[in-house]
Formats: sequence, C-alpha cells, structure tokens
Amino acid sequence: MVQKRLEETLGEIERAAASIGRAPSSIQLMAVSKTHPYEEILELFGCGQFLFGENRVQEVVEKFSSPRPEGMRVHLIGHLQSNKVKKIVGLVDAIDSVDSLKVASKISEASLALNKRMPILLQYNTSEEDSKSGFENEASLYEALDSIAQLQGVTVRGLMTIGPLHGGEEETRKAFSLLRALQDSCISRYPHLDFSTLSMGMSGDFPLAIREGATMVRVGTRLFGKREYL
Ligand SMILES: *Cc1c(COP(=O)(O)O)cnc(C)c1O
Repeated sequence: MVQKRLEETLGEIERAAASIGRAPSSIQLMAVSKTHPYEEILELFGCGQFLFGENRVQEVVEKFSSPRPEGMRVHLIGHLQSNKVKKIVGLVDAIDSVDSLKVASKISEASLALNKRMPILLQYNTSEEDSKSGFENEASLYEALDSIAQLQGVTVRGLMTIGPLHGGEEETRKAFSLLRALQDSCISRYPHLDFSTLSMGMSGDFPLAIREGATMVRVGTRLFGKREYL
C-alpha cells in the first residue's frame, strides 16, 4: 500500500517536472510523517524514501530519540518555540520552519554546543493567513537575515512556505510564485548565502508547487493516508 502510494507520488512529481522541462531529480520528496507511528516510517524508508518531516517537537522526541537507520533524515517543519530548541537540535538534520531571529539565534547557540551547524530554511507567510507562522513581509525577513548571516551555528539553505489553506488554484499559484520571486531577491541581496532550497507544496498542491519552482515538496496524506488526531 505505502509502496504503491510512494510510486504514484514519485510519478506525479516526475510528470509535473516534465511538464515544464525540469529534471525530476531537482525535486526532493519529503514524507511528512506527523501523527503516524515509527513503524510506518520504517516501512516507507524500506521502500527507498529517506527524507521525513515532523511538525511537533514532542513527536520528534518520542519517535526519533533512539538512533535511526543510516541514511534516514528528519527535518522539523512546524513552528518552534525558543524554549524547545535545546530539545530538538540533537535529533533533527535540519529545521525548515525558522520564523524569527530569536529562534535562529537559539538554534545556532544550541548547535554550536553540540559542535554542529544546523541547516535551516526561513519560513515565509505567502498567503496572509494569520493562522500560519512565518515572516510576514520582506522587510522583516531581511532584517532577520542580516543577523542570521552572521550566526556560526546555522547554515541558510533556502525558503519554505505553506500555501493558502483556503482559496483556489489561482491563489495557491500566486503564493508559490511569490516565494519563488522572494528567492531571487534573497539571492541577489545575499550572494554569499545559499537559497537553493524552495520547500513548498503539500498533498493537495505539490504538482502546482513544482511548476512554480519547488525543489522540495512536503507530502503527508498522499503517502500515509488520512491523519487521525488524538
Ligand atoms: C502536515 C504538513 C504537511 C503535509 O500535509 P499533507 O496535506 O498531509 O500532505 C506539509 N507541510 C507542513 C508544514 C505540515 O505541517
């Protein structure tokens, strides 16, 4: 079942990429495993999927505190509170949801204490929905980046956004193309930083995100089935 869903998802990624002449290998699939047990993660890993995303610190602690198989990678993709940073830095390979200078500084400090440098993405709110975290405008993103660029314990890798939760295809496309344009601005403003990752697109809209330039898509339901919240 999960093998079939993985193959279908990879097929959709391939078709979306081909439709605009992009190489499918330029798009990474992240399997969003939140609410699903570790056994299901292992099963998908056994099918060749190596990148996973979790949105809650507590869940990462529960599922990923023991050593994991070689090659399995886990990113945090949900809002991170400063007081939980220390708990998470030793357990994940990247934090894709950095939304303030404050949290970036804490990540840097905690990573340096472990002798590592944490890859991060800056989360941007492209749809002006208050329910979502992320930088709200370019000015606040740049203000934070001016300082984040100086931090020794983090490495900027790019940008992340969640498309509009309500609204149609046109609105979603606009949100993704806005992030793409922002990536270009960031590249010219900070030529010494790496903005190559554009994480956007979920189960409902990842083909569209790929057509708008996503290099990483975060897919949960399409791979694992519906989530049951306890
Ligand atoms: C849950 C989640 C996803 C995946 O959502 P699906 O619709 O199940 O694919 C992607 N990104 C983030 C940040 C999430 O929290």
